[in-house]
Order: sequence, then structure tokens, then C-alpha cells
Amino acid sequence: MRRNSFQIGLSAAGLLITFLATSSHAAKSSRSSGDDSPITVVIDAGHGGHDRGGIPGQRVAEKDMTLDVALRLRNILSANGYNVVMTRSTDVFVPLGGRVAIANSYRNAVFVCIHFNATPRSGASGIETYFYSRNSLPLASAIHYYVAGGAPSENRGVRRRGYFVLRKTTIPAVLVECGFLTNPTEAAYAQSAPYRQKLAEEIAAGVRRRNAVGSSFGTTRVATAESIPLQPYIDQTKVSSSKKSRSKRSHKKSARKKKSSSKGSGSEASAKSSDREG
Ligand SMILES: [Zn+2]
Repeated sequence: MRRNSFQIGLSAAGLLITFLATSSHAAKSSRSSGDDSPITVVIDAGHGGHDRGGIPGQRVAEKDMTLDVALRLRNILSANGYNVVMTRSTDVFVPLGGRVAIANSYRNAVFVCIHFNATPRSGASGIETYFYSRNSLPLASAIHYYVAGGAPSENRGVRRRGYFVLRKTTIPAVLVECGFLTNPTEAAYAQSAPYRQKLAEEIAAGVRRRNAVGSSFGTTRVATAESIPLQPYIDQTKVSSSKKSRSKRSHKKSARKKKSSSKGSGSEASAKSSDREG
């Protein structure tokens, strides 16, 4: 009698496990509309160790800010059931090739690189998000939508550029620049823990909504407004510098933006590019 009920219990548990496995598989299939649903998030905190990030003489070390946001993002995503992998979780130097190798060792994964911007011109400000491969665009759009929407900073748009960590990764990969540490206002934001928590929460929201963006817009239609208004897709390699990246989302600081970003954002980013890849 006792044994029978034990056996019934066991088989019921087996059925339950089978049901859960089946239904979660079904949910995954329908959510991803045919693609593998990324369930691992590889978080890459920019710089580290002897590589401080930013530009020479910069007061706030980029490597510390990126790590803090990355650790907060890890906590949020882990709490939301994601498998999270960090390319670094302490103040150590990890070569770019090592970061890419970590990312590429996971299937069903996405790669999120966290950086802060820097330029000698202290007036430069704002959030910008980079991607390279087409299949990274939905993730880039979603992350940028939330981070730029949640931050009080200027929206510098989603941009395509061949940064090493974006170009060499085989999984969807995005690099988000969470503001300029060379800008006094944005540096002050970055040094506040609640603000870094907010950044992490917005990045996490983008990761969570990446599939909604992907299935709503597909891979070729990227700039139409439906459930989520997106940044227009701007291929910076094909835009002349005079027409660079005007956001369609209205923004509070447009006057300041007009003054500060009519020239030079490309060259700043190029300078950053060589800095980052060197
Ligand atoms: Zn950086």
C-alpha cells in the first residue's frame, strides 16, 4: 500500500517533469519563431586590469564603471532565469580575443559589451549602441531603446561598426556606450550607484525584449514603428559626416545636441575604436 502510493507519486512526478519539459520546449519554440532562443547572456565588462579604458588623464576609470554595471546586469538577468557568463567579474585584463572566444563557446547565446565613452571634448554626451552583424540588430535596437529611453542623456543612436568584439563574435553581439565619462554631468551620473543600477535594468529590459523586436520587425525591416519604436538603422559606413545620425525620437536636449554633435562624432568614435582595439 505504502509502496504503491510511492510508485504512483513517482510516476506522477515523472509525468509532471515530462509535461514541464514539453511545455517549456513549446513555449521556447513559439517565442523564437523558428530560431534558437538565446538563453545564455555573455556579459563583457569593457577593459580591466592595466587597461583603464577611456582617454589619458581621464578622472573616472571606465573599467570600474563597466564592471559595476556588468555585475548589476548579471544579478538582474540571473534573477530572471538567464544563464549568465561574465568575460570578467573582477578587475583583471582579458584580451579581446579571449572575450570573443568566451562568447563563441556558447550556443543559444547573446553577447553584451558594456562601455562608457570618452573624448577630449568634454561637451560630448549621450548614449550610443553598436552592432555589426545583421542578426545583432534586433538586440542592439532593443537595448538602445531601453537604455537611451531610460537615461537622461542624449540619444546618439544605434550605429554599425566593426569593433573587434562585434566583428569576431558568431552570436548576436552588441556594444553599448553608457555615456561619456569625460562629460562632467554624465560622469556624475555614472558615479552614482542608483544610476548604474538603472543602466543595468534598462540593458536587461533590452535583452528580455530582444525576441519581441526580432519577431515584430524581422531582419530586413528595422526602422518602422510598431509595438516598439526603434532607432532608425543607420549604417555609419555609408553616411556622410554631415548627415550623421539624427535620432527620430524627440529629445529634451536637442538644442545642446545641435550645438555639440554636428561634427566629429564619427572621428571620436574612430579614435575610440583604435583605442579599444589596440
Ligand atoms: Zn571602453
